Amino acid sequence: MHLSTAGLERYKSGSQRARIFTEPWGAANLYCPACDSLELKTLPANTPALDFSCPQCGSLFQLKSKSGSFGRCVQDGAFDAMKRTILLDRTPNIFLLRYSLSEMLVRDVQLIPKFAFSLSILQVRNPLSKTARRAGWVGCNFLLDRIPPDARISMVAEGKPVAILTVRKAYDRLRPLAKLKVEKRGWTLDVLREIRLLGKNDFELADIYSRAEELARLHPKNFHVRDKIRQQLQVLRDMGLLEFLGDGSYRLR
Ligand SMILES: [Zn+2]
Repeated sequence: MHLSTAGLERYKSGSQRARIFTEPWGAANLYCPACDSLELKTLPANTPALDFSCPQCGSLFQLKSKSGSFGRCVQDGAFDAMKRTILLDRTPNIFLLRYSLSEMLVRDVQLIPKFAFSLSILQVRNPLSKTARRAGWVGCNFLLDRIPPDARISMVAEGKPVAILTVRKAYDRLRPLAKLKVEKRGWTLDVLREIRLLGKNDFELADIYSRAEELARLHPKNFHVRDKIRQQLQVLRDMGLLEFLGDGSYRLR
């Protein structure tokens, strides 16, 4: 979990320095969750928004690192470009690496699979002010708290690596999402998140209906929210994430 400081003295900016010690760590320690490759290939430094690719299955990865907590959102690039990337279903898998600057140790690594991205988690930021170098430029955030916990897969927790098999199992569990169209997938993920927020394994249709207002806010163009919720419960059942107990009762698996 140790981060090397080799070559660090040549860089001044905090974000550049963070790259210098987190990227080699990623190249040496991160592996592909989508196949059985234990290696990832580092992509050339000028590849926009991508850091690694899997030599075996071609999966693409971006590494974002931060000292201290990520909080509820992660800053990303231009809003329009990211919106297009999500709609075209070209988002990479993302590693979120949290490290301790004082100890130079990796604390946590979470993986957000590419199929966990939908427009629901994208937030537009205020345009840069007139005095900024890139005045008017509009960036975006990923809202981490909009991602269901199932899709925030722990690879390192409190400085300890999680078993590779556990990580790949968690990734495979959600893999059926990749087959859904982005718009539909957004609904599935949002309903799953609302179920998780109920904080119980068994729940009733009325429980999830009580979250209809929040779901309507995320999908303002849909006027049949309750129908949509029931449809998504079926999608989650078909994915093997939910069990139908009958009489409007459900169980998370
Ligand atoms: Zn792979």
